[in-house]
Amino acid sequence: MFFCGAAWRIKTKEKKVFLTFDDGPVPEVTPCVINLLKQYNAVATFFCVGDNVRKYPVVFRLIRESGMKVGNHTFSHCKAWSKTKAEYLNDVKKCSNYAESNCFRPPHGQMYPWWIRSLKKSFGRIVMWDILSLDYDPMLTPDEVVENVTANLRKGSIIVFHDSLKAWDRLKVALPRVLEHLKNEGYTTEIIE
Ligand SMILES: [Zn+2]
Repeated sequence: MFFCGAAWRIKTKEKKVFLTFDDGPVPEVTPCVINLLKQYNAVATFFCVGDNVRKYPVVFRLIRESGMKVGNHTFSHCKAWSKTKAEYLNDVKKCSNYAESNCFRPPHGQMYPWWIRSLKKSFGRIVMWDILSLDYDPMLTPDEVVENVTANLRKGSIIVFHDSLKAWDRLKVALPRVLEHLKNEGYTTEIIE
């Protein structure tokens, strides 16, 4: 899976990485993630599901007020491969009404390369990733989630976590360890512009 016109890693010579959290905001997880990030002076981009923003506007506001960035992750977390282009663009637009952003990430990484131009024109940057933490996978231990990130870390890496209930059991243990590792290795974090 590789699309031209989408960002898989940010080109940089500096030791910085881009943390991203998908599928929130949810009250049980997102505020805890923000607290952990703050403890390490880290920042992240939150690719929000519009329907969650609708349900939890206070949690959404917390993301913005904490100096984090918001991205568009569709309204209903829909899969590109089960929608027409018009339906899909509508769902992305509906998310924009709740979470305005210049960055978009397609749920499940599903995308038709020939939709990219329309998406970019209306919704800005398409942000993919080079590191999947797999924090949502119940077969993995938190240690394995940490390893997925630290073993593949490079300058400019875009790392995917999930501020979702499904991932939280692993994320709450793995995230502080990853943040500790970044600090020890001299990496800083940035939001995706
Ligand atoms: Zn997602």
